[in-house]
Amino acid sequence: MHIKNFIQGRIIVARLEHGEDIISQFTALAEMNGIETGTLSAIGALSHADLAFYDQSSHEYGIIALNEPMEMASCSGNISLKDGRPFVHAHAVLSDRTGRTHGGHLISGTIFAAELFLQELSGLPLKRVSDSITGLYLWGNE
Ligand code: ZN
Repeated sequence: MHIKNFIQGRIIVARLEHGEDIISQFTALAEMNGIETGTLSAIGALSHADLAFYDQSSHEYGIIALNEPMEMASCSGNISLKDGRPFVHAHAVLSDRTGRTHGGHLISGTIFAAELFLQELSGLPLKRVSDSITGLYLWGNE
């Protein structure tokens, strides 16, 4: 188990840009504000999204392309450093016009409208390192 302690830093609230990619907007906001470690939550609507499911045997992501307007019923994630830069890891639950939901690892999404709360965590930054067991970049023990 890898455990670190942080104290709460700034809380940044943002309305994200229509037509932009949501992961890019999360990342840009972290970079603009010098946030290396944090948590985020967002709600809103996306006009297109790619979710993913990580295959634990093949260690590859399978893409779930959602090519229709979706409500972003929930989106939560975190920010830590990967290769020295802020890296966003986010998951989302998206619902279609019937209320049916799709969930998974959020690869990308075109913003129709989105509202973000970003909580900075102050302390030595979390850093992602390659993990041979899972094939993922997980929080390391630096
Ligand atoms: Zn994920």
